[in-house]
Amino acid sequence: KSARQASSLNSEPLAANDPKHIRVKLVLLGDSGVGKSCIVLRFVRGQFDPTSKVTVGASFLCQTIALQNSTTVKFEIWDTAGQERYAALAPLYYRGAAVAVVVYDITSPDSFHKAQYWVKELQKHGSPDIVMALVGNKADLHENRRVSAQEAEEYAEKIGMFFIETSAKTADNINQLFEEISKRLPQRQSS
Ligand code: GDP
Repeated sequence: KSARQASSLNSEPLAANDPKHIRVKLVLLGDSGVGKSCIVLRFVRGQFDPTSKVTVGASFLCQTIALQNSTTVKFEIWDTAGQERYAALAPLYYRGAAVAVVVYDITSPDSFHKAQYWVKELQKHGSPDIVMALVGNKADLHENRRVSAQEAEEYAEKIGMFFIETSAKTADNINQLFEEISKRLPQRQSS
């Protein structure tokens, strides 16, 4: 239900071969409970609802953003729908993904290690030029922080990923995450 509602709000047609209107498949990866669904809900609906567990399932949520150079980027955001429990996600999930957002929880070192596992999966199965972002979520819980920003930053730099800390709860850096991703997209992903 949620997926359909959100996409109908953002169902403007995309001009074919117009480099000003880019459409990208974005996959979310990360341990269960790190806040993937909440990040999407914050970005797409501007809400934080800790009680609603959104399962996007086989579908996805869409959100279009406008950049300063009058380009629009339509994100088709795929959530794992609980499949992160399995060692590897179906290749279908990664296929055609221009962007992968790997999320961990800054209060959970386990989730940071798991993020590194997902990065390896992406390196094996994802497109070689996929844009990867490492996201340390729940930044509002800084009193319980157990993964330092420096450690994550160093790891991301080594891999060549973009790194940012976010809070789906306070909305901190959520829009910035998607804006930074947009800036890193190769032009030929226009559609
Ligand atoms: P997912 O399994 O990765 O999709 O995680 P969810 O989006 O379902 O979030 C798991 C739990 O973390 C929920 O109870 C959320 O309320 C909570 N949560 C998500 N993002 C944040 C955040 O930025 N800050 C805090 N404090 N809690 C969050």
